[in-house]
Amino acid sequence: MRRSLAVISLAATVFLGGCANSESPAAPTRTGTYTEMPMPAQATTIVSSSPLPTANPDQCGNPLASLRPSTAGGPTVDAIRARGRLIVGLDTGSNLFSFRDPKSGTIMGFDADIAREIAKDLLGDASLIDFRTIGSSDREKALKSHTVDIVAKTMSITCERRKDVTFSTVYLQASQRVLVVQDSGINGIADLAGKRVCVVPRTTSMDNIRRGQPAASLLTVPSWADCLVALQQRQVDAVSTDDAILAGMAAQDPYTAVVGGPISPEPYGIGIPKGDDDLVRFVNATLERIRTSGRWQELYDEWLVGALHESSPPTPTYQD
Ligand code: GLU
Repeated sequence: MRRSLAVISLAATVFLGGCANSESPAAPTRTGTYTEMPMPAQATTIVSSSPLPTANPDQCGNPLASLRPSTAGGPTVDAIRARGRLIVGLDTGSNLFSFRDPKSGTIMGFDADIAREIAKDLLGDASLIDFRTIGSSDREKALKSHTVDIVAKTMSITCERRKDVTFSTVYLQASQRVLVVQDSGINGIADLAGKRVCVVPRTTSMDNIRRGQPAASLLTVPSWADCLVALQQRQVDAVSTDDAILAGMAAQDPYTAVVGGPISPEPYGIGIPKGDDDLVRFVNATLERIRTSGRWQELYDEWLVGALHESSPPTPTYQD
């Protein structure tokens, strides 16, 4: 015992002697426990061996066909006018579509401005809106429970959703793609086999990636903004959703890139509670106005030019 202490003491003397001229000896290297970055709240892993979602056999004719435009109004339009405000569901973390401007606190983006155009026609003032923050997973629920009058949140029109809600005509055509860290070696959906991909539950993006690349495992999180953080923290290899949403993330982080071809078409419609047909027609009238007046183009040029392939308003289809 005494001998080993002596050896340590000698070693210390030699070490300190070697540093005699420096002002302060280097602090000893500290060891500690390396802590992984925490996963986003409510993150859940779905392994590649989990059962796949059943293919959607639903037929609803042309899901993109909507009611002919009319500003005549009816019970739903009357109720919104009596209230004096339009209640709009969207999320506040979607760069380019609906996000809070840090300086003014205003909700900005393409979807927010489409909603303002509807409020302008309904109430005579684009600012007469109450924005309610909802996640992608809660869009149908918010409409079914009439918590909101409309949803303006990158919502793809599908036969599955049309069982529960109604849609306006298409106001933007997006396509699902893949976002990765630059030079990751992942160039599209085929390279995602054995990789971990971030998605938000109850979105078309999640179903498409599970069917299109069953060999990928998934991390599900509440919002697409959480997916960007998970990618930045290297907790996933990729994020897959609409090119429109991915373009907003790529603009926020220049070390990321959108790769691969389109995985599926994602036509965006304004979500409206089932049965509110007068409001569907009214919203379609606003969309018709902004398509023909050039206002749609102005909004596209303000928010999305360069982010998407499309550069003109989608042609509406009417059913009756
Ligand atoms: N367009 C996709 C959907 O409606 C994803 C968009 C989103 O989650 O906001 O499910």
